[in-house]
Amino acid sequence: MDRMDFTPNPDHQAIRDGVRQVCSDFPDEYWAEKDAAHEFPWDFYQALADGGWVGIATPQEFGGGGQGITEASIMLEEIAASGAAMNGCSAVHLSIFGMEPVRKYGTPALAAEVLPRVASGELHVAFGVTEPDAGTDTTQITTRAIRDGDEYEITGAKVWTTKAPHCAMCLLLVRTTPIEETASRTDGMSLFLVDLQDPAVDITPISKVGRNAVVSCEVRYDRLRVPASRRIGEEGKGFTYLLDGLNPERILIAAEALGIGRASIAKATAYANERVVFGRPIGKNQGIAFPLADAHMKLNAAELIIREASWRYDNGLACAEAANAAKYLAAEAGFFAADQAMQTHGGFGYASEYHVERYWREARLMKIAPVSQEMVLNFISSKVLGLPRSY
Ligand SMILES: Cc1cc2nc3c(=O)[nH]c(=O)nc-3n(C[C@H](O)[C@H](O)[C@H](O)COP(=O)(O)OP(=O)(O)OC[C@H]3O[C@@H](n4cnc5c(N)ncnc54)[C@H](O)[C@@H]3O)c2cc1C
Repeated sequence: MDRMDFTPNPDHQAIRDGVRQVCSDFPDEYWAEKDAAHEFPWDFYQALADGGWVGIATPQEFGGGGQGITEASIMLEEIAASGAAMNGCSAVHLSIFGMEPVRKYGTPALAAEVLPRVASGELHVAFGVTEPDAGTDTTQITTRAIRDGDEYEITGAKVWTTKAPHCAMCLLLVRTTPIEETASRTDGMSLFLVDLQDPAVDITPISKVGRNAVVSCEVRYDRLRVPASRRIGEEGKGFTYLLDGLNPERILIAAEALGIGRASIAKATAYANERVVFGRPIGKNQGIAFPLADAHMKLNAAELIIREASWRYDNGLACAEAANAAKYLAAEAGFFAADQAMQTHGGFGYASEYHVERYWREARLMKIAPVSQEMVLNFISSKVLGLPRSY
């Protein structure tokens, strides 16, 4: 096992430098334009794919880089920090680690068919769990798969399926047994890799606050036929397979929030040095400087727990407390930094031209999805502190 070590790591620095190099061709103006036009950043995505970055955490036997969550989180932090923020990260986020259940529990044939194409960037994939009446409490999903010979037929509705129009496939959680017929409410759910671009699937984009270059959608499934060979693992165990991916997902999201915070502080300090009001740069006022210093320290503290969480995960140690804390603290620190950046810019902070309003809109998302701050607090209260569960 590697020891946790804070001396500069040349491999990690090489990842930062390589990602910064790719991102340098996609400045803030590019992201502002894509966001305003609601256009997927195809050329950015292709540049990352060409550099081999999309497959960074996919095992080498499937054509990936074979790196850990530590390296993947550094990559996503740098993408966000370049000013790409969530528009950049969400373009690739799910391809980085989202197909892990297919690798772990899918048939070897399915893994061999799908993973190299995801790692190369050729195949876009989505993730369909949330439903109109089942978000935080996943057990309440009602999208149903009914077995019919060698196939299943899937009917139901999902919401917020990100990138749905661009994805050939979606990792979909459905009920194979209704909740009333299961011993435990977490039983009876199954995971499938389904085709999204099928006439039985209807995709409608949701109008939202930000991250508008990457669409999230309502997706209706009306008797979609899926071969049984596309079921991931055992029938009824889908929820357990998803739990495996929660900690790495939280770590990666935390790194994205950290990156937005870094981008915000960079913009705010530059502006505070150059904007002159009452005959002096506004950064001379402690009312402007102190919140930025505070935001910087909060980001550094969040980064430390991200590093602990990813180190634990990559070394096979228990990491749920650190991963949850990383997500919570980085989401708070990232939004605080974005909010202070907006305040530093005064009225211009509210104008699109200065980009901090885009960071602010995107940083806000991290407090809600993929898991809300409240659910992290629930986890820490009940699982770490041993307090009674509220639900
Ligand atoms: C931009 C965006 C992209 C997304 N992408 C995807 C995707 O690709 N695939 C996908 O499946 N989902 C996706 N989601 C969905 C996201 O994971 C859910 O929004 C999130 O899990 C919360 O679920 P909900 O919105 O239904 O909130 P609800 O479950 O309705 O909760 C509402 C509020 O109540 C709080 N709450 C509920 N119960 C408790 C409790 N016991 N204690 C304290 N507070 C509680 C919650 O924290 C939340 O603040 C996305 C969401 C957004 C906004």
